[in-house]
Amino acid sequence: KDTSQSSTSIANDQFLDGLLVSTFDEASCLSRYQSHLYRKASPYKPSAYLLSKLRNYEHLHSSCGPRTKSYNKTMRKGSKFSKDDAGTKCKYLVWTPSNGLGNRMLTLASAFLYAILTDRVLLVKFGTDMFGLFCEPFPDSSWLLPRNFPYWKDQKHIETYETMLGNSKKKISKELLPQFLILNLQHTHDGHNNFFHCDQSQGRLQKVPVLILWSDQYFVPSLFMIPSFRQELSKMFPEKDTVFHHLGRYLFHPSNAAWEQISRIYEAHLAKANERIGLQIRVYNTHRSPHQTIINEIIACTLQHKLLPELDVQKTATSLLKKRTSKAVLVASLFSEYGEKLRTIYKTSTAMTGELIKVYQPSHEGRQKSNNDTHNIKAWTEIYLLSLCDALITSPKSTFGYVAHGLGGLKPWILQRAYGETIPNPPCQRVMSMEPCFHYPPKYDCKANNTVDFTSLFHHMKHCEDVSSGLRLV
Ligand code: GDP
Repeated sequence: KDTSQSSTSIANDQFLDGLLVSTFDEASCLSRYQSHLYRKASPYKPSAYLLSKLRNYEHLHSSCGPRTKSYNKTMRKGSKFSKDDAGTKCKYLVWTPSNGLGNRMLTLASAFLYAILTDRVLLVKFGTDMFGLFCEPFPDSSWLLPRNFPYWKDQKHIETYETMLGNSKKKISKELLPQFLILNLQHTHDGHNNFFHCDQSQGRLQKVPVLILWSDQYFVPSLFMIPSFRQELSKMFPEKDTVFHHLGRYLFHPSNAAWEQISRIYEAHLAKANERIGLQIRVYNTHRSPHQTIINEIIACTLQHKLLPELDVQKTATSLLKKRTSKAVLVASLFSEYGEKLRTIYKTSTAMTGELIKVYQPSHEGRQKSNNDTHNIKAWTEIYLLSLCDALITSPKSTFGYVAHGLGGLKPWILQRAYGETIPNPPCQRVMSMEPCFHYPPKYDCKANNTVDFTSLFHHMKHCEDVSSGLRLV
């Protein structure tokens, strides 16, 4: 092979076909330069237009980011803005954490896309529980919201965009705009009718210098509903089911501390196997869904889809095979039972195929502790390791699983929710898209002023296999 060619292809792999720029200091973020050693090159290529949008965004971020003149001016409480400033000044979108790490990463990616579409600078309010997870994603600047942000602690007195929309008859254009506004896209169970996906709302939001986002949802499909964004989005993402795959790989690079864990576990337990199978087992209610039922369900799923071999209970054949191939099974769960039971099963019996099956579960935290930094590093490590697998089985409605398969560019088999002792039939189902599911999408048709099922308006939106009222881009 021509060496110049292969070094170009290594550079392509390393920088994810142009998603990443090469100007970062390697030592500050090893994963950025080493992830291609563990993850196969993605078959999905980012569009040239997406790359140009990312480069423009990087430029905007470094000229408006923390500690620039514009930043200092805009973030000063009581700075005056009029609607004429809207086009010329730096504008910001402040992301705030809500719920577990999976939810947080999905809203971060959604926020980033919204920031790109609206020429805002994305800043993240990371407390100590998130500080050590990721590298800085944007060159020559920081995405961390400085601690002296005037509303770091208390956001009680900021107007929300619901009240602003409610006051729409007050002729907002003549008034001074609010300088800070809370954009509340947190999920609700009351029909979830916010009007964020309506063009009129975007017209108003556009003029507010600082939006503070409260959300726990993957709201990207909402952005595809907004007429003024639609054309940009189709140019950026000719393949609509790659939004999270590209933006997630652009944004989320494990910090050196996380990378140390990831590479240690990968080298010790996954690297040598011929194939890696990831199992993500999220049980919300252990009384309704007993561990043994879920184990049986997983085994049924792996057999049905030939992800793991059948066991040779009569011990007839194959152990004489000279060259045994191996499969590594990575188990991510809060509960130790899963790794233990599966390890015992594959240790005590041989596979019909003669393959060696090795089960490894990195942690068992017992319960969710999302405000704890070492807990979150473990969660991130496992999400990342799952994303390095060749095939995934994940749990229904889990954003933890969504992030893993989205980063990996994988279409997982999602387990059906099990109740009692019955193994659901079918035990699992392959999802049609690697996009995360938007669990609580809007149902309001802004033009027609009535309720609508958006899958009937957009052929690239489908209801999710695991959440029937949710929406997934396909
Ligand atoms: P979701 O609740 O499944 O949608 O996922 P989230 O990530 O939003 O919240 C669940 C949180 O519980 C995770 O972020 C972790 O903190 C913890 N958690 C759940 N499952 C696992 C697991 O398999 N491994 C680890 N280390 N943590 C988990």
